[in-house]
Amino acid sequence: MSRRVSGFFKDDSGVCGAECGESYGAASHEGIFADKGDLRIRQKSLLLHSCCGPCSTSVVERLARDYDITVFFYNPNIMDEGEYRRRLETQRSFLEIYNSSPDAPSRVALAVGEYEPSVFVRACEGHESDPEGGERCEICFSLRLAKTAERAALYGFDCFATTLSVSPHKDYAAIARIGGRLGMQCGVEFLAEDFKKHNGFARSVELSKAYGLYRQGYCGCDFGRAGGQHGGGRDSE
Ligand code: SF4
Repeated sequence: MSRRVSGFFKDDSGVCGAECGESYGAASHEGIFADKGDLRIRQKSLLLHSCCGPCSTSVVERLARDYDITVFFYNPNIMDEGEYRRRLETQRSFLEIYNSSPDAPSRVALAVGEYEPSVFVRACEGHESDPEGGERCEICFSLRLAKTAERAALYGFDCFATTLSVSPHKDYAAIARIGGRLGMQCGVEFLAEDFKKHNGFARSVELSKAYGLYRQGYCGCDFGRAGGQHGGGRDSE
């Protein structure tokens, strides 16, 4: 039995959900979220913010043996709605393929945040022309990680993390600083790890190709797109 609590679905097997107002078919919902209960007893629960399906591949592969993972897709920075939906579908496809693999050490749930690009645009006012790696990107990281930390605290996760550090174009020091501060504020541990290390980015490219995932050619916001700024997909190679 499922019920909706403040935007997240909770069901008998644990936390999972969608809060973007999209309707999930019961079959795909159950397909993604089944078998979570037992694993929670043995593993730390991790709410993993994901910027996109391709970046999440190598992070999920790396962490799935040690954590009970729920991927949290919250990316208001993707200003083009069509692009947002394409990346969300790619995220969903990856997890469906991953969860159906007999080699997967544990199943990974998906939670979808609100799609609210106007929040991102407002937060970035005055920083539209900043270069990649500048203040606008730090605002962008803060926005996405703040929501992740809040939800992790609200739903009792042991820790939270983000796939953002997979990209060679993202400043890991800034991500670790922002995540650590938000973790302290929300009372949830931030798993600070530079996921591009130990071949993490190259592995994400390899896995994305193997899974046939769409790999975007820009980071997400129209400001960066106009300036040719990168993301975790094709453009980062
Ligand atoms: S370039 Fe990427 S990280 Fe920077 S503000 Fe735009 S979407 Fe966010």
